[in-house]
Amino acid sequence: MGNKRNRLIMLFGAIICICAAVVFSDEPKPQQTSAGVVSTAFERQLIVLDAGHGGADGGCVSIGGTPEKGINLSIMQTIRDTAAIMGYDVICTRESDISIHDEGVTGLAKQKKSDMDNRLAIINKYEGAVALSIHQNQFTDPQYSGTQVFYPKDSEQSHLLAESIKGRVVSTLQPENERETKPVGDELFLLNNAKCPIVMVECGFLSNAGEAARLETPEYQKHMAITVFMGLCDYIRQM
Ligand SMILES: [Zn+2]
Repeated sequence: MGNKRNRLIMLFGAIICICAAVVFSDEPKPQQTSAGVVSTAFERQLIVLDAGHGGADGGCVSIGGTPEKGINLSIMQTIRDTAAIMGYDVICTRESDISIHDEGVTGLAKQKKSDMDNRLAIINKYEGAVALSIHQNQFTDPQYSGTQVFYPKDSEQSHLLAESIKGRVVSTLQPENERETKPVGDELFLLNNAKCPIVMVECGFLSNAGEAARLETPEYQKHMAITVFMGLCDYIRQM
């Protein structure tokens, strides 16, 4: 437990150093104002965070009975808070256990469609954003485990973002993870219709007993969140 805490403290230390380097590495751009005074201005990266599912849509369910939606929300909240501390602008598609479908829409299928349309509208509302969609995975064979990152097939920037996050997952959290990042098409509506660089992070398999148990703990959720955020910082620095 002590070791875990020490590792977490070191991880937080590392992320603060890395992100400070990212945030402050750009020299302030001097601007000549009309009064002849030189001012400085930073351009802050806007990050859109999407915690998958919510409300009546729980997503997949762990073998212990925990729905994906709460794990997604918890991981997203840590990324949100860390990004805000580091000075990034952050927009979230949801910040509580809700579906964001239009008022008056009835029936689960129509609510889900409206919910996805509204998530996409939020992501596409901002120019120059980078977006992350947080999910958990599930498979019929319980032996499979490990984080995997998906990106829209026609977006090279999204591919770079996916590779950055995968790199951090391997170097920080899962050294044995050999899952390749994977391009997706029409089957993933949000990714395929977003205008900005975007990835879907499937943080782990809820169908795997060991990984599900880890993903249900707040400590591992924070590890995962910080790891994903470090990958995002790597990508932003490359940009
Ligand atoms: Zn999901």
